[in-house]
Amino acid sequence: MREGWVVGVDIGGTNLVVGAVPVVGGPPAAIRTDTTRSQRGADAAVDDVVRMANEVIEETLELHGGGRESFLGVGIGSPGPLDLEKGLLIETPNLGWKNYPIRDRISDLLGLPATLDNDANCATYGEWWLGAGKGTRCMAGVTLGTGIGGGLILDGKLVHGASGCAGELGHTTIDFTGRRCACGNYGCLEAYASGPNIAARAREGIEAGDHSILADLVDGDLSRITAQTVYDALLQGDEHAQAVMLETAKILGAGIANVVNLFNPEVVVVVGGVTRAGDHLFTPLRSEVRRRAFDVAVRACRIVPGELGDAAGVIGAAGVFVADTGLTP
Ligand SMILES: [Zn+2]
Repeated sequence: MREGWVVGVDIGGTNLVVGAVPVVGGPPAAIRTDTTRSQRGADAAVDDVVRMANEVIEETLELHGGGRESFLGVGIGSPGPLDLEKGLLIETPNLGWKNYPIRDRISDLLGLPATLDNDANCATYGEWWLGAGKGTRCMAGVTLGTGIGGGLILDGKLVHGASGCAGELGHTTIDFTGRRCACGNYGCLEAYASGPNIAARAREGIEAGDHSILADLVDGDLSRITAQTVYDALLQGDEHAQAVMLETAKILGAGIANVVNLFNPEVVVVVGGVTRAGDHLFTPLRSEVRRRAFDVAVRACRIVPGELGDAAGVIGAAGVFVADTGLTP
């Protein structure tokens, strides 16, 4: 296997993360995080990515020596839907960008070859390569954040499907007459259990008369409630926040039970900020999966939090570059 580095880029609805990942696998030698500010447009976000990548490259070379030629390429993870062949971002409900040639823009500006894959696929691949799914043959990843993403790995390869959309767990229907989703459908998993929708459900409960210290935590401005404040209230023993988190766990459990029955994975790795809720999330989530999915599938499947934290997307994006360009032995 070749020595050297790959720049991993994780474009999220909230944050941009850029890191330098060793080709052989390992934690990033240098990493930068910045807010996405998606409303300024895709060009401005790409400029930020390129600036952060140049900083990361410089810092890595200062720490480890060598020249710029030890950087072999860039792996990019972006929200989709994407045209993987052309390297295009087709449409992003959570960013508002359309028909944008993100792979070639970043590749040209950095002067490095680049690969593109879906952000959730990259986080899934990172956890499979170096994290909680290491050594498994059949893995599903679930990313909880501004949106909900998913990824499927079979025999060490990401499953892309006929047009690159495989694994879009967040936009599977769990209630066919349910809440409107950013994608236009009704009753998607994401419309209930993404960070902003956890906050929205907590707010709606208070507006309907549930008593909660959440109102005090945001000084009465309910629009300031986030998934994080719901978690803070839960830790302080707030019953409304506990009920919202329990319902979130059951909703995610229903969504993951569908994945378990459809794909029969050895492990489901759940990543993202909401996993900080720990057992408050995972204990009821696992029992909901047990209640719904086939026993023989449930017994073969671990449901665990990711091990790579916020770096999963960056590590996985770099890992996809390593795999796609044949740098692996
Ligand atoms: Zn949807």
